[in-house]
Amino acid sequence: MLDTPSSHASLSFSPEVDKPSASYSTYRIGGNMEFAWFPTTLDEAVELLTYLSPLLKSGETTLNVLGWGSNTLIASAGIAGHTLITRKLADMKALGDGRFLIEAGVHLAKVAHAVLEAGFQWGEYMIGIPGTMGGAAVMNAGAMGQDTAKIVERVFVFDLHKGNADWVEASDLAYDYRYSAVDSQKQIVLATECRFQAGDVSESKALMERNIAFRKSHHPIEPNGGSVFRNPTAPPQGGDVVLSAGKLLEDLGAKGTWKVGGAEVSALHANFIVNTNHASSTDVLTLMRQMQVAVWDAYKLRIYPENRFIGLATEAEKTLWHALKEGDPHHAPRSNESL
Ligand SMILES: Cc1cc2nc3c(=O)[nH]c(=O)nc-3n(C[C@H](O)[C@H](O)[C@H](O)COP(=O)(O)OP(=O)(O)OC[C@H]3O[C@@H](n4cnc5c(N)ncnc54)[C@H](O)[C@@H]3O)c2cc1C
Repeated sequence: MLDTPSSHASLSFSPEVDKPSASYSTYRIGGNMEFAWFPTTLDEAVELLTYLSPLLKSGETTLNVLGWGSNTLIASAGIAGHTLITRKLADMKALGDGRFLIEAGVHLAKVAHAVLEAGFQWGEYMIGIPGTMGGAAVMNAGAMGQDTAKIVERVFVFDLHKGNADWVEASDLAYDYRYSAVDSQKQIVLATECRFQAGDVSESKALMERNIAFRKSHHPIEPNGGSVFRNPTAPPQGGDVVLSAGKLLEDLGAKGTWKVGGAEVSALHANFIVNTNHASSTDVLTLMRQMQVAVWDAYKLRIYPENRFIGLATEAEKTLWHALKEGDPHHAPRSNESL
């Protein structure tokens, strides 16, 4: 089977072709998506992935997945092949006893409100995280001492190698700090089953209000992708003490001053990069690399990206991203060298 627009016609729904991607990432950066798919039901998502699975296995095409794009930097050159955007998989229903079936594209704010209205706790952390349930299950998103691992019981995953969808228990997802074993290149989360705790929701409501107020004063309003780096542990490589990447960078004077092209370190949070003036993906990656190298030079600590980078990378972007992922301070050009 070939991956051509005419072969897509065999499906019950169609992709949007050459669709600009910037509005599907909170960085508001990104070129066109060759084929952008917006399934509206689990059946449509399974139909699409069943069609793509053999093409992906034979290397004839590529697939990227986007929830709300709130942790994802998209290449300015765009995304070749297929992009599955989950945000129209937006149903959730109560299963009783604090359990909910939540499709991958449901926004976390919607989950937080629905859970609260139904009289349950443990959704408080979701209120200010601008992502989807699927993205949160993959990233183990968390805040205020809560995280997604605490509520997920099982996930409904399409396995691109096996070519089918099945439930996977949370105990098989190896959840850790901002980590799950879900590999978005091979496994697509279509829905989750989550359990919340019955309790005093007036307390939850107050917690959510505090959470929103905190974010308003500590998070930038300009387009951004949340925390750029994961918090490191000390001593270097795997110690027990978790340090704040933002504090380390703030102490180096990054906040509101470091800048590459249209990308700047936020004046409110030194672990956030804001797109203030038509930043490109290269601007963001170059600034990230400067931040990473500066932390190494000052503290001999490696910090690794929490943000993900997808799409058609230029050679310079590939080098930067490779160095960022390796955390190797000497792999790529330094901040003051040309790319
Ligand atoms: C202002 C701001 C504040 C933030 N605050 C927090 C915070 O407090 N805590 C926190 O943890 N994060 C925070 N984030 C980061 C981000 O919101 C979370 O990581 C969120 O879980 C990402 O969800 P998403 O749907 O936007 O994922 P995306 O960015 O769309 O995707 C993230 C990764 O998951 C993959 N993916 C997405 N959906 C699926 C799926 N259904 N199946 C398989 N793979 C998938 C993507 O391919 C990508 O690799 C913040 C971001 C912003 C912009």
